[in-house]
Amino acid sequence: HAVTTNLKDIIRTISDYPRPGIEFRDITTLLGDARAFRRAIDELVQPWAGTKIDKVAGIEARGFILGGAVAHQLSAGFVPIRKKGKLPHTTVRIAYSLEYGVDEMEMHQDAVRPGERVILVDDLIATGGTATAAAKLLRQIGADVVAACFVIDLPDLGGAVKLRAMDVPVGTLIEFA
Ligand code: IMP
Repeated sequence: HAVTTNLKDIIRTISDYPRPGIEFRDITTLLGDARAFRRAIDELVQPWAGTKIDKVAGIEARGFILGGAVAHQLSAGFVPIRKKGKLPHTTVRIAYSLEYGVDEMEMHQDAVRPGERVILVDDLIATGGTATAAAKLLRQIGADVVAACFVIDLPDLGGAVKLRAMDVPVGTLIEFA
């Protein structure tokens, strides 16, 4: 008979990965637990159940796993936002800052039609550099970015505040402060 586990307790923390001083929050332990995975998806979609969501946009790579399940549960389409050079058709591209340097992400130009209601999904929001760039990219092709959802928020890094400042409502399930 299983005892109830908090979602937070099933996230694994790896110290000094990928670099010394970083506490990496690893969601593979959550994904591998049937009940926890279902509960996380249920909690992510709960605010949007019964509302019309056209597309879920997931950020490579863990946002694909969560976003695919969220899209299925909302009967929405799924749109991948990828590292540059991975998508075969015409893309729109945006540069964003990483801790060291910059990178670029892109999506298919025709992945969302103007005015479509889109939810953005990733596993974790830290500084918000990745998610704010993704939201800008979606808006660039005319998407109505209804919300951005994450399993984990690192509130001390301010990403959720940045997204809300650009009028994107933010939903998160777990905080590590
Ligand atoms: P941000 O752009 O600083 O908000 O960083 C968020 C991006 O980096 C997301 O795509 C996350 O998947 C990834 N990321 C940053 N820190 C972690 C972590 O501790 N665990 C898992 N992913 C992380």
